[in-house]
Order: sequence, then structure tokens, then C-alpha cells
Amino acid sequence: MKEAIAQLPEGIRERLTQAGRLADESGLDLYLVGGTVRDLLLGRARMDIDLAVDGDGMGFASRLARKTEGRYTPHPRFLTATVDLPEGNSLDVATARGETYEQPGALPRVAPAPIDVDLARRDFTINAMAVSLNGRSFGNLVDPFNGRGDLRSRLVRILHDRSYIDDPTRLFRAVRFEQRLRFRLERGTERRFREAVSGGMIGNLSGPRLLEQLRLICVEPDPWPVFNRLERLDALKAIHPGLASDDGLKTLVQEISQSGDLASSTYDGWWILYLVALFRPRRQETLHGIVERLKPNRRLRKAIEDMSGWSRVEQAVESGRIDTPADFYRAVRTISEDTILFLALTHPDEAVRSRCETYYHHHRHARLSIDGGTLKELGIPEGPAYGQILDEVLSMKINGEIGTAEEERRAARDLWSRLHRLGA
Ligand code: ATP
Repeated sequence: MKEAIAQLPEGIRERLTQAGRLADESGLDLYLVGGTVRDLLLGRARMDIDLAVDGDGMGFASRLARKTEGRYTPHPRFLTATVDLPEGNSLDVATARGETYEQPGALPRVAPAPIDVDLARRDFTINAMAVSLNGRSFGNLVDPFNGRGDLRSRLVRILHDRSYIDDPTRLFRAVRFEQRLRFRLERGTERRFREAVSGGMIGNLSGPRLLEQLRLICVEPDPWPVFNRLERLDALKAIHPGLASDDGLKTLVQEISQSGDLASSTYDGWWILYLVALFRPRRQETLHGIVERLKPNRRLRKAIEDMSGWSRVEQAVESGRIDTPADFYRAVRTISEDTILFLALTHPDEAVRSRCETYYHHHRHARLSIDGGTLKELGIPEGPAYGQILDEVLSMKINGEIGTAEEERRAARDLWSRLHRLGA
């Protein structure tokens, strides 16, 4: 394994050696574990480094943070801590632990345990390896389930037959790794997968845990093959009978992922767009059922629900009741920005896409530089006309009829004169 570690950037390598020395001084065993070892053996770059200590991981992390002048953040509920190093990387340090499952699908009971017990509670053989960082054994691979062999054969394999029953989130993890790495589910692992699905194990997962698995799929570089494989393994309809992955979804996912810089650079809702795509062509009752099952947070729930409200806007555009950009702004301003972006990226009608795109980029945050105070300065008497004037000036601004603050003031004055003449 020394050769694999040698591929790491020098800065990280030095930190790992330093951590190993500190472990020696503390009389603890320290290991690289899990996905870090898997990706190291596959030669895949990764930013986060996972460490496990055969002993008090949080105490060790705190000392490591002091030694490296890093920042220490403990997560006592999980017996883990993060050390953010001054150069920007971070190390996640866990206390090696064993787990017992009292109820299928529920979270396990956790207690500190030696590394071999820690590896035995993991999901797949390729994720159940450790590499020693202590001086005397630096680079030695601990691989009790032949994960290295499975990496060579490109197989995702569970560690024991009850694995999916203990934790059905592993069903989703299995397909995520399989598709990301272009591996295959090992035969017995696929058989147990199908048995777990037909045995209703997905039903044992709470809505939020299930939704988190769907979110993790959506942040993969290519989510569609994962959804497609879940479909073929009957796992999507086990979430809700109305869910399916089809060519329509494939096209939507492609459109979203190829959208380049259409969203703003700070946009953080890509996963929401993929989920809206997955839920989109469904009937109202199905959507309702999906929301009931997954219990999404407010933002996702609104994005899903606004997709059904959208058809009213579509009809109004088609019938000509929505014409100018300001009309469009008023019709959609309460619709979630995720839904609007989704439509801007995927709507079959180019004109609708372009309206949504313009709204998203230019009008969504439209504000006037004048307000009630300005109207007062202009000598307009306070009253209900204020709302009407400001609203009208905003429409003119969105429609591109005016631009500068001075033009807004002038428009407000003209509008007031007109209203005044009409006896407002
Ligand atoms: P990624 O590359 O997506 O970050 P990862 O392998 O690092 O993948 P994490 O979800 O960060 O995955 O988990 C870290 C490690 O913890 C895994 O490699 C695996 O050994 C273990 N693990 C995570 N989730 C489970 C689970 N549900 N059951 C058993 N072991 C798990």
C-alpha cells in the first residue's frame, strides 16, 4: 500500500505521517479507512480523508488539531471529529466502533470496538479495508473480506446475508457505487438485493433517510444510470408505485446536467432539479403520495408542488392573458426558483424556456430604487395610490421602458399626475 499512499499529494502524505507519529506517542492504532482506501487503491483522487482510531478518536483528533494548528470540530453523537488543516484539507477522525441493529431499518446502537469489528460493520467489501498509519506498520493493508480482490474484479459485494435487512440504505449505496465505478453487483449481492426489495425492506426506511439516499444519487456526476438501474431492480416502485425511470427522465437529467452556466454561480439546488425531474410526469395523487412518503423539507416540497401549479401559468401564456415580461413576473413570482430554473432548462417550448430564463436571471429580484419615502419627497399625498404607483413603475422597469432611478422618479410623478387628473 505504500505505493498507493505515495500517489497522494505531498502535503497530505506529510500530515498522515505526522498523524501516525502522534498515534505512536499516544499508544493508539490509527488507520485510513473506508472510501479513502477504496479510492486510493483505484487511483481516484478525493478531497476528504477518513481516519479511524482504535481508541478515543475525538481525543486524538483534538490533539492532532493542536499539533497541526488545525481547527477541531467534535461530533460527539457520532464519536467522530473533523480536523480542518491550515492548508485547506480536512481529516475526519472516527473512533473505531461496532454496531448492533435492534430493528431493521432503524439507526444502530454504536459502541467503541477494535478495527476488525469496525470493518465488519461496513457495507461492502470494497469499503471495508483499512491502512495502518503507525510508524512500525505504516502502509500495511487490513483487508479481512478481500476487498482488494473485489476491486480487481470490479464487484460490489455485501459482507453478510442480512446486510440489507440491517440497513436498507445499503440498497441505494450499492447501486450508487456500482454505477459510479462501473462495477457490477456480485451475484449473491444482487440476489439478496432483489429479496430485500420484494420483502419490503425499503418500507422500513423513514422518509428523511430515504430522501437522503435519493439526494446522494442526485449529487453523483451522472445520476441517470443510478435511477435506471434502481428501476430495473424494482427499487423505485418500492419507494412509491408511481415512480419510474424512463427515457423521459433520461432526457430531463441530460438537459439539466448539460445546462452549463445557466443557473447562477451560487445556485445550490441541482439535486432538487433532478428530483423534480424524477417526480414530474406524475399524477396529482402520486405526487401527493411521494411527498407524504418522503417528507421533504419546505424547499423541495414547494418545488414539487409548484410543478403542478405551473400548468395554470402555461394556459395563461397560451391564451395570451400573459403577454409582457411584467405580466409573466406577476404570474410566477411566488413560484419556487428551483421550479422556474427547471422549466428554463427543460420545457419543450423554446419560448417558455426563454421567458423562464429571462425571469430567472433578470427579473426574479427586480427592485425599484424609489420607495414610499421618494413619493413623499415628490409631494404625492400618502394613501392607497402609493402601492398602485410603485407597482406600475416596477412593471415599466421589468418591461424595459425605464431604467435609471431618475426615470423611476419621473414615471412615478407622471403616473401620479394621471391618477390625480382621473380623481384618484
Ligand atoms: P463517497 O466516495 O461517496 O464519499 P464513501 O465510501 O466515503 O463514499 P461515506 O458515505 O462517506 O462513503 O461513508 C464512509 C464509509 O463508511 C464507507 O466507505 C463505508 O465503509 C462506511 N459506511 C457508510 N455508510 C454505511 C452504511 N450504511 N452501512 C455500512 N457502512 C457504511
